[in-house]
Amino acid sequence: MLLIERVVVGPLMSNAYLVFDNVKGEGILIDAGDDSEKIIETVEKNKIRVKAIYATHGHFDHVLAVGEIKDYFECKFYIHREDLPILEKAAESCKKLLGRDYSNPPNPDGYIKDGDKITVGEYEIKVMHTPGHTPGSVSYLSKDAVFTGDTLFAGAVGRYDFPGGNLEQLLDSLKKLLKLPDSFSVYPGHGPSTTIGVEKVHNPFIGERGLYRLNEKR
Ligand SMILES: [Zn+2]
Ligand SMILES: [Zn+2]
Repeated sequence: MLLIERVVVGPLMSNAYLVFDNVKGEGILIDAGDDSEKIIETVEKNKIRVKAIYATHGHFDHVLAVGEIKDYFECKFYIHREDLPILEKAAESCKKLLGRDYSNPPNPDGYIKDGDKITVGEYEIKVMHTPGHTPGSVSYLSKDAVFTGDTLFAGAVGRYDFPGGNLEQLLDSLKKLLKLPDSFSVYPGHGPSTTIGVEKVHNPFIGERGLYRLNEKR
């Protein structure tokens, strides 16, 4: 079975997710925005062997603990190539927005792209490119759950007004996500989890009476 542990980190309360195989104990970390010691504690409590960190996107609140975690577990770090310019400015943006000093995350060990498959123990996680919040935003899919980063939240959608954001792309990405089965759990980059079915109906941006009519020509 694939298990999920959520760790809420940093001043923007970003979610870091440990996704791991309960038999082999092999796992990955999806996003590492801050509070590396909290993440490490959860890894050790659950006896997970973290083989890599995968970022949903390059914003500082999702990547600033990557360096410390990578050093601690000697694991790899991956991100979509189109978010490299954002990743390279992560510490600088954090300083500008929150006035806090961090060192910049390390260079990625490689890049992930749409359709890539990540093995976690006996299971597979698929990469879906879901740009719009940032050009290189991705979602990670298991067989019954999706990690949406800052693209889709419980009751909200990602902002598209940051550098590199794009509303048209965001709407196309949301459309792609809403094609997943209603029963799929959604694990966003901030806030509580939800399901595709609930968001389809109740999300005020994309639901049946939502702000963005995904089913109509725009
Ligand atoms: Zn973001
Ligand atoms: Zn965020």
